[in-house]
Amino acid sequence: MRVHNFSAGPAQLPLPVLERAASELTDWRSSGMSVLEVSHRGKDFTACAADAEATIRRLTGASDDYAVLFLAGGATGQFSAIPGNLTERGDTAAFLNTGQWSAKAIKEAQRQGVDAVVVADEADSSYTTTPDAGSFTVPEGARYLYYCANETIGGVAMPYVPTAEAAGVPIVADVSSMYLSRPVDVDAFGVIFGGAQKNLGPAGMDISLIRKDLLGRARADVPAIWDWKVMAEADSMLNTPPTFSIYLLGLILHWIEDSGGLAAMAERNDAKAQRLYDAIDTSDFYSNPVEKRSRSAMNIPFTLADPSLDTAFLAGAEDAGLTNLKGHRSVGGMRASLYNAMTDDGVSALIDYMAEFERTRA
Ligand code: PMP
Repeated sequence: MRVHNFSAGPAQLPLPVLERAASELTDWRSSGMSVLEVSHRGKDFTACAADAEATIRRLTGASDDYAVLFLAGGATGQFSAIPGNLTERGDTAAFLNTGQWSAKAIKEAQRQGVDAVVVADEADSSYTTTPDAGSFTVPEGARYLYYCANETIGGVAMPYVPTAEAAGVPIVADVSSMYLSRPVDVDAFGVIFGGAQKNLGPAGMDISLIRKDLLGRARADVPAIWDWKVMAEADSMLNTPPTFSIYLLGLILHWIEDSGGLAAMAERNDAKAQRLYDAIDTSDFYSNPVEKRSRSAMNIPFTLADPSLDTAFLAGAEDAGLTNLKGHRSVGGMRASLYNAMTDDGVSALIDYMAEFERTRA
């Protein structure tokens, strides 16, 4: 029996994708082998990787001006790669600090000698806000403006792309926890990157869209595996790539496309999130701390008026087949992640459970 899995990641994946993967696991494309067992340089796998890339381009509208990379090391790998590819030691880069994932990226840039200027810092609100448009400026000479489009822990989403504020410097965005959940204007960005394990498949792989004029600027001592130009020239196969992750990504991308593409994802995701926010906002028992304009459609933290009931809430939820609702340790309470693969039924089941718990326990 499948449960409704509200994990922040690795997260619930679309059932038809899992069923398809299961059905062809032992014999892929009539090869007599699984996809796990074939050469990454063979014609079947290179066609599979090329198809995943082509499907991402169709879904996002990314043109040939952008390289599409599939890299091991997840989003954290890119926290490390970004400074090495876009700065020399001592260079300045601008950052929005909107949550714990921004903070980690800032720390890693500093570790590599970047003068990381935090141009908007939301730590004072305990990361429940985002900066107003026009309220920050990028310092002269900054190599890029970095932000996290959706902070998975705080449940905070940037409500706009800071194109005007970036004033022509490349925008680098971590979209891990909202990847392909809504349409994206790729041309507004220098680099879009994120881990796959929320909307796009198994953990451990990063998917990056990188404007090609940003390739070839890496520091001389950047390890080859983190040099975007080297990786782009090798079709992400300088090393043996995460083949199973790329294969599963391809299945998910086709599922997104067959479900109507990114506009349809956005419509469904917004409707799911709105229903849960409405349930929280119309109750005196549940609350969400995030300012309304910055609320995430993907990760929805909420607390109970009486935290001593948290354990009972979670235990009852498990019994009802609603799993992984415990909030991040730094925020407390609960967190429901409603990625692309979360069904309308899953959200309904959660809302029903919350109402019943409030009625009987509040
Ligand atoms: N950025 C965000 C917004 C995340 O949610 C995560 C993982 N939860 C990461 C980066 C780090 O991803 P990974 O573990 O794949 O390195």
